[in-house]
Amino acid sequence: MLRDQFGRDVTYLRVSVTERCNFRCQYCMPEKPFSWVPRENLLSYEELYSFIRIGIDQGITKIRLTGGEPLTRDDLDRLIAMIIEYAPDVDIGLTTNGYLLEPMVERLSNAGLKRINVSLDSMQKETLHAITKKDVLDKVKAGIEAAVQAGLKVKINSVIMKKVNEDEVIALFEYAKGLGAQIRFIEYMENSFASSHVQGLTSDEILDILGKHVSFSPVLIGSDGPATLYECTDGYRFGTIEPHKHDFCATCNRIRLTAEGDLIPCLYFDEAMSVKDALRENDLDQAEQVLRTVVFNKPEKNRWNANDSEVSTRAFYQTGG
Ligand code: SAM
Ligand code: SF4
Repeated sequence: MLRDQFGRDVTYLRVSVTERCNFRCQYCMPEKPFSWVPRENLLSYEELYSFIRIGIDQGITKIRLTGGEPLTRDDLDRLIAMIIEYAPDVDIGLTTNGYLLEPMVERLSNAGLKRINVSLDSMQKETLHAITKKDVLDKVKAGIEAAVQAGLKVKINSVIMKKVNEDEVIALFEYAKGLGAQIRFIEYMENSFASSHVQGLTSDEILDILGKHVSFSPVLIGSDGPATLYECTDGYRFGTIEPHKHDFCATCNRIRLTAEGDLIPCLYFDEAMSVKDALRENDLDQAEQVLRTVVFNKPEKNRWNANDSEVSTRAFYQTGG
């Protein structure tokens, strides 16, 4: 069991398999070109797998592979198959921007993947191009639809920004609903890598927009990770993710491993400890010790709710969001 000093059990490990990405989303990446960490600094699948096994042995029950863009890393299905072979009951998901998804769906599904979250912030070609800095809508939609066809449980993640895509809340909602996919509106988390002009809509503002279109009420029983769920009168469920709300951190059960082997206890803060050397030396006791220390020292709260000017210095493309 992994428990922090505030009594929260950590059961959810998010693993970034690469910081590289084929998009440049304005809320996540710097606009100016920059260099990636050399490939040899990334943990190999075998090293990631060693750490994931330790996590599972210590009580991790849910794993999400993310990035950067995880599908830019070759043969991701290989890592998924390794994890599922070790722990068939582990709840494993993937978060992707969807651009490379369509041709990979079958392999991912054959490897045992059951759940996938795809990020989609606009149903308009030009708007999505402006957000991601690339013409991506057709491929992302093809990826989402292929995943639905293949029987994967698909969720759609959308970040809504003022004067960018705030007029798309309903179109995104309807697209997701039409596919039977849950949509989750994630509040923009201020960070020093995003374009300076990005301003997110709050979940209340998003719910206001939706409320003029559909009737819904909060789902009071059960939870879905960090999302607050709502149910429409026809039974369709959607969610909001609200890191600015005061109680967001009280039930946080997550830690994050970066592709370079840094173990991060909170998306907001700079604190991290590396497990890379321990994994490279196959010192699994040391890796477990680092895991326990990082979990124990997990901060009580992020600071996005402290006041409007709070900004994280963590890069989402490194932590995996
Ligand atoms: N590249 C993949 C993708 O975009 O889905 C996986 C990594 S991305 C960092 C994971 C999630 O974080 C995406 O849903 C993305 O929209 C979200 N995200 C990135 N930067 C964010 C920010 N500043 N605030 C809120 N969500 C953010
Ligand atoms: Fe890449 Fe995902 Fe960040 Fe967009 S949100 S730049 S797709 S890592």
